[in-house]
Amino acid sequence: MTITRWRNSHKQPSALTYYIFCIIFSYAQSASLTVKATSGSPSAPRVIVIGAGAAGLTAASRLLSYGFDVTVLEASSRTGGRIHSVALNGSFVEVGTGTLSTRSSSSVVLDPTNEVVDWATTKKLLKTLPIGPVDPEEFFVAANYTFSQNELDVMGATILATDWSNYAISSENNLSRGAVLSRQFNKWRPRVSSAPYIADAVYNYIIQKERAEYGVDSLSNLSFAHSFAPFDSSEVSLNISMMEFLRQIAPLADSAVKINMKVDKIVLNGSNTGRPMLVYTSSNVTFSADHVIVTVSLGHLKANIAALFDPPLSERKREAIRLAGFGTRERIVLVYNTSWWRAVWPEMKNGVKVGILKNLQPEAELLLSAWTASIAEFSEDTHIPNALQFEFSLDAESSVENVTDASVQDDLTVLLRTITPNVTIMELPVAIYR
Ligand SMILES: Cc1cc2nc3c(=O)[nH]c(=O)nc-3n(C[C@H](O)[C@H](O)[C@H](O)COP(=O)(O)OP(=O)(O)OC[C@H]3O[C@@H](n4cnc5c(N)ncnc54)[C@H](O)[C@@H]3O)c2cc1C
Repeated sequence: MTITRWRNSHKQPSALTYYIFCIIFSYAQSASLTVKATSGSPSAPRVIVIGAGAAGLTAASRLLSYGFDVTVLEASSRTGGRIHSVALNGSFVEVGTGTLSTRSSSSVVLDPTNEVVDWATTKKLLKTLPIGPVDPEEFFVAANYTFSQNELDVMGATILATDWSNYAISSENNLSRGAVLSRQFNKWRPRVSSAPYIADAVYNYIIQKERAEYGVDSLSNLSFAHSFAPFDSSEVSLNISMMEFLRQIAPLADSAVKINMKVDKIVLNGSNTGRPMLVYTSSNVTFSADHVIVTVSLGHLKANIAALFDPPLSERKREAIRLAGFGTRERIVLVYNTSWWRAVWPEMKNGVKVGILKNLQPEAELLLSAWTASIAEFSEDTHIPNALQFEFSLDAESSVENVTDASVQDDLTVLLRTITPNVTIMELPVAIYR
């Protein structure tokens, strides 16, 4: 067991998407999935799907195959949502989702508990990885110092991680995750008295990733009893882009999706068209529908819930959406002329993650800008050469979207120089993808 288990993320938002899908689907007064009519025929029930991310496109594709008349409305100018593959020199860069989750941690095998991984396996779409754990090694850098997993093991970090995950998979206790983490941390910290700031740095690293994953202000709010243990997993890459994968798993004619069509309001019983629902967009186009499925992100739903539904959702549903927590994940890819980091960190190979430990040297901390402090880890890009990808774990309110490209280049360069033992070999990036 290594600390890499904290790398898995996004499980809860996906589950929440499904939950909200169910909430909204029932708002649409429950549809029967056995539809006899031919798709698009006048008698086929019409479904408007809001959002062309993985959830919306998959729902639309499935409903079309059942014979529903389906249109997907997407606010932005592209489909995919948080799946965002950018074509580049015959290959691609993943700016959003990069991997599939699987429950198998030791090898790429058929995973009957996960239909998507199962499907990708039978279609031979998984990227061949070296024999060994699917989860690549991870090592940690701090100001001018690199810790191998081994060193952290010696210091007891793995004991902390193992105790922690044993609690995570034990369903009979009702302790909060925060309570267990603090207790284990207090037992473990004295063992690293030679370098107490290392203990603090590891603790903060774990906290940062856990909070982003589960979307809570405090881990004390999160009980183990209801943690998503069934989804605990490793991750596997695909040999095609995520966007191409989405196209294959959810095939849909272009004409079924309308981009640049932001939905402002959904009105139930507001139509005299014979269909009970009306969907208003900011492009001034209105759609009538028998059913509406909303797959917008939880953040968007939280921010717009009052305006989006007429009549409003029931108090119970609004409360459920209000209480649901989430964290966000963002990625920035920097392309260089050479893979300069291989000379700096020999352990850094394809896919090896580098966790950034903070709090190690207060004076080095001052060099970090506020936004770079939310970087959890970075690694070599596995699809294109000479590229580094940085992953950000942020709370619900934060985003690095508004940081300018100039700041991305300058601040990430400062960060890399701060944690790089030999600054003289640092290059500047030649391209930025985000
Ligand atoms: C950097 C990053 C890395 C990730 N890595 C992984 C990973 O490795 N493995 C994994 O399983 N998951 C990962 N995820 C999470 C995964 O991408 C998401 O859980 C998933 O793509 C969400 O799909 P969705 O359809 O629910 O939502 P979204 O993809 O957010 O789609 C919602 C869509 O609704 C649209 N929309 C919003 N408001 C409106 C409106 N009013 N009208 C019309 N349309 C609207 C949005 O523009 C968007 O296209 C990652 C996410 C990010 C950002």
